[in-house]
Amino acid sequence: MDGQLLAGKVALITGAASGIGASTAKLMAHHGARVALADVDLKGVAENAAAIAENGGQALAVEADVRDGQCVAEMVKRTVERFGRLDCCVNNAGIDGSASPLHEYTEENWRDVLEVNLTGVWLCLKHEISYMLEQGVTGSIVNTASAAGLVGLPLGVSGYVASKHGVVGLTRAAALEYVRQGIRVNAICPGAVRTPMLDDAITSGMTTEAELSSMQPIGRLAAPREVAEAAVWLCADASSFVTGQALAVDGGWTVQ
Ligand code: NAD
Repeated sequence: MDGQLLAGKVALITGAASGIGASTAKLMAHHGARVALADVDLKGVAENAAAIAENGGQALAVEADVRDGQCVAEMVKRTVERFGRLDCCVNNAGIDGSASPLHEYTEENWRDVLEVNLTGVWLCLKHEISYMLEQGVTGSIVNTASAAGLVGLPLGVSGYVASKHGVVGLTRAAALEYVRQGIRVNAICPGAVRTPMLDDAITSGMTTEAELSSMQPIGRLAAPREVAEAAVWLCADASSFVTGQALAVDGGWTVQ
């Protein structure tokens, strides 16, 4: 079909039960990819996979915890068993943790946030790239960092900010290590996006919609689809000369 950016490709998206990951999986399927949706929330990914199938797409729901290396290896294996290959990955699963000033931030909170957001992305890269190298498949990998991976935030989320800066660093390192093997690795850095994660942050009193909107020169929150569009482009051959970048999708937040 004309205008399909991912025709013939197989994509794996983590954190695909909700928010940005769910929107990305649906948009990738719309662009012709066969998609594996992975998440700790199996019910959520099963529902999203069913919605994709109802629209004529091919989707697999996989229960996976990105903190667990064996589980991540299995997630990649199941995707390849089902669809025969793996071309694109969006390592998107993440949590924001509880908010508190750095000196009151607990060790448990720090470890939880770093384990999902940074170790989780590293484990996904490790197993996805291993497959691509073994099979001689070129590919494109997108890691979901954050505007908080490019600048600090005064919202009591030091672990989150550190983890997302880590994702940007990891993206640059991986991009350089595998560029000659035809594997591209980029990050997207969303500003404030209307998803369940953000709704929870607002409900818990960490911030307000007005505060977040005013931090973004565009003056509003993003819709998940606006971030998914960037992930699709970075996965597609249309971005074939782009690697190692941290693409801000943030309504101008980080250029002020
Ligand atoms: P969300 O809470 O709607 O979705 C996150 C998904 O990740 C959930 O489905 C959750 O079950 C899954 N997940 C959590 N821990 C997991 C684990 N250990 N293994 C597998 N899956 C796990 O949140 P979202 O806003 O869509 O966030 C998606 C990504 O975008 C995150 O990495 C987040 O940090 C990043 N991000 C979000 C915003 C925003 O404003 N919403 C801004 C910048 C970056």
